[in-house]
Amino acid sequence: MMDENANYEIDRLDRKRGRFVVKKISLLGATGSIGWQTYDILKEQRDAFHLVAFSSGKNIEKTREMIETLKPELVSVQLEEDALILAKDYPQVHFTFGEKGLVEVATHPDSTVLVNAVLGSVGLESTLAAIRMGKTIAIANKETLVTAGHLVMAEAKKYNATILPVDSEHSAIFQSMNGENPKNIERLIITASGGSFRDKTREELKHVTVADALNHPNWSMGAKITIDSATMMNKGLEVIEAHVLFDMPYDKIDVLLHRESIIHSLVEYHDTSVIAQLGTPDMRVPIQYALSYPDRMPLQNGQRLNLAQIGQLHFKEMDFERYPALRLAFEAGRTGGTILTAMNAANEAAVAAFLQGKITFLEIDETIERVMQAHNNVFVPDLQTILHVDRETRKIVLDMVK
Ligand code: MG
Repeated sequence: MMDENANYEIDRLDRKRGRFVVKKISLLGATGSIGWQTYDILKEQRDAFHLVAFSSGKNIEKTREMIETLKPELVSVQLEEDALILAKDYPQVHFTFGEKGLVEVATHPDSTVLVNAVLGSVGLESTLAAIRMGKTIAIANKETLVTAGHLVMAEAKKYNATILPVDSEHSAIFQSMNGENPKNIERLIITASGGSFRDKTREELKHVTVADALNHPNWSMGAKITIDSATMMNKGLEVIEAHVLFDMPYDKIDVLLHRESIIHSLVEYHDTSVIAQLGTPDMRVPIQYALSYPDRMPLQNGQRLNLAQIGQLHFKEMDFERYPALRLAFEAGRTGGTILTAMNAANEAAVAAFLQGKITFLEIDETIERVMQAHNNVFVPDLQTILHVDRETRKIVLDMVK
C-alpha cells in the first residue's frame, strides 16, 4: 500500500505542465458520519475533487442536499421506491439501489478514488470490484479489512491498487511511516481514548444505558462505533486493521490508553526513536489526507493544536480484563480465518441488540465470546465462505438475544 499510485503520478505530471487535474471520487456510505464529513471536504475543495458517484441509505433529505450541492452523475440508495422518486426530481442523475447499486458506485468508470465509508461488512464486494479496476481505495470501513483483509490486500497487490487508511489511528501510523523502511519498525502503538465508560469499573457497567454509552468524550461518531469504543472492540478491530494494512505481526502491535486523543498513534523504530502524528480530534484530517495524499491541503475551519494550552497529556497501560473485547480481538487476529468474521458479525449483531434494549452492555462481550468459542474455524476462507459465516453468525446472535 506504500506505492505511490499511478493516478497520482498522472496528476503530478499534469500539474507540472500547469494543468490542474480534478480527482474524481466515488463515495460509499455518503450520509453516515464519515461520509458526511467527506462531503464537508468535497464541497469546500471543489477545485481539487469532484464527486461522480455516491451511495446512501435511507436518509433522503441528506441525499438530496448532496445531489444539489455536488451534482454527481450516479447515485445509489437503499430502496427502489426512493430511487424512483429521486429519478423524477433529478432527471440529469442516474439512480440505482440496493447491493448492486453499491457495486455500480464503486466501479464508476470515471472515478479514480473510492472512499468506502459504509458501516459493517456490506462494502466488501463493491470494494473488491473497485480494487480490480486499480482504483485507489480510501478505506474507512474497518470491517472489510477485518473479515477479508487477506483477500483485499492480495487483490490490491495483483491489480496495483493503493489502499489508504481513513481511520485516524491508521492515518497517524501511515504518516509516521512516511519515507521510512518498514523493516526498521520495532512496534506500532495505537492510542485509545477509553470510550464513554473509561472511568467506570466493570462492576459499574452492569446498569449503564444506551444514552450513557452514546456519549463519547472526544470524538463525534456514529452510534455503532461509539458503542465499539466503549467496549474497546473498536480498538480490537483497529489492531486487526493495522496488522492487515501494515503487514505487522500482532506481537508488534500495542494499545495505549491516552484520554485526550491528541496523539493519534505512534511508530517505534529499532533505534528507540518514536514518531507520532498529533492534532486536535477531527476526522476530517485523516479523510482529507487520504483524498489529497501524498499532497496536503489547508483544512477549512480546522482547529490548530495548542499544546501549551492543553498543558498535559495522559497515558495508561491497557487493561485487558477491564476490556475483554480487546483480548478477544487479539485472539481472533492471532488465530486468523473465519473466526474474524464470526467475531465481527457477533459484535455488530450484539451492538444492534444493545441499542434496541434487548441485551445489557456487558452482554455484548459475553455474546461475542460465546460465538467465538462455538465457531468452527476455516483458516483461509474465500469470499463466499466469509459472507456465509457473516450471515449465519447474525442468525445465531438473533436467536441468542430473543
Ligand atoms: Mg479509529
